[in-house]
Amino acid sequence: MSDVLTAPRVLKLEDGGYVDGQLRTSTPPARIGRSHSVVPIPIVSVDEARVRAPLMAASAAFDRLRELFGDVVMREPGGGDAVRWMTHVLAGRSYRVAQPLTFTPYASAKACSARCRFCSETLIDESASGPMSASLRPRADYFDTLGQALRALKGVSLSYSLSGLENTDDPEWLLSLLHTLRSVDGPTVQDRVMYSNGAGLATDGARLLPALRDFDLSWLEWSRHHDQATANQAIMRFRDDEPVMDQTVFEQTLAAAQQAFPVKLICIVQQGGIESAADVCRYIDWARGLGVESVIFREFSVLPDRYRRNVTRRYIDGTRVAIDALLLECMADPAFNARFEPLALTGGYYFWNARWRGPQGMEVVFETSDYGAMREHEESGAIYKLVFHANGNLCSGWQPERDVLWSAHGQQ
Ligand code: SF4
Repeated sequence: MSDVLTAPRVLKLEDGGYVDGQLRTSTPPARIGRSHSVVPIPIVSVDEARVRAPLMAASAAFDRLRELFGDVVMREPGGGDAVRWMTHVLAGRSYRVAQPLTFTPYASAKACSARCRFCSETLIDESASGPMSASLRPRADYFDTLGQALRALKGVSLSYSLSGLENTDDPEWLLSLLHTLRSVDGPTVQDRVMYSNGAGLATDGARLLPALRDFDLSWLEWSRHHDQATANQAIMRFRDDEPVMDQTVFEQTLAAAQQAFPVKLICIVQQGGIESAADVCRYIDWARGLGVESVIFREFSVLPDRYRRNVTRRYIDGTRVAIDALLLECMADPAFNARFEPLALTGGYYFWNARWRGPQGMEVVFETSDYGAMREHEESGAIYKLVFHANGNLCSGWQPERDVLWSAHGQQ
């Protein structure tokens, strides 16, 4: 369940003002100079985004989006944006660190409760050597070494992004993780987001939901790739003993989770799943009926050639639904247009998205990402994300033996 993206904190308001988490202002953050614990994210014109957000500019939907949206939230920091780059020393070496930044303690305590046909944790990057993070299991000293890594990040502003395999599959591990993240004197934490398939919430919600609420979880991104259980199970393939595959169990667990913190539903669009504007509208209606206020429709990440053509990649290549084609279909659909109005475009270092606002403040997001762009940024030497792997390595990416910044076992 790797995190693909994190939603931006900047919101454009109906009256023309902007907020960036804690501050509300009538001036776009790009044009104000101030210091603030939450780094302001600039908003630029769509024309400027042609250069600064090349993934978005290359989209088949760009011209239509340009007509509907005035500007773009630039989550990726520009090279000369002094406010959004900091330096930090790890293991004696100084690094440029982008803001905003995420930290992921990669969850791999046990094999995942699902076997999603597109699972990115089973994709093999042939340019990387060593084991995949999903194959590593935490050692007895895992939480001690995680605490050391967090202390090494003291002074860094970041958000926790809890992903990897399924965080809730080992409740004891997750409770210890939350305790460690809360108790260590480490980085300055902005948001706390968790990605989940919901399996452990269905079986151990009585313990996990209060703990996540007490952790101040900002929101949960819950993967459910179809509004009907049979179709969802054909995609996610939960193991036989997982109650969450059942529609009633899922909906009851979702209701309980929404009492504890905000929940966003994540739907990876694909053939055989949600693949048309009619599917999108039906999924939104279903989610709305469950009290969900935010739905994110995501395309499979675009994969460079170096990803092996294994069964997962062949599934992705064979069932991909392009988000810009789906967006164009929705934008041409009177039923969608009658309910949703453009809210914001966001450009990140390896993703972009288009956000829409609907009835009762419901938010719908269409998103796409590109692993090639992600790797290009990692190769620059700057840090865009931090991942702590079960082998004790703190890395700037998803490979546990590549781009090692710090290691509990002195391997860098
Ligand atoms: S829930 Fe699905 S995508 Fe996430 S780790 Fe498990 S199998 Fe992979």
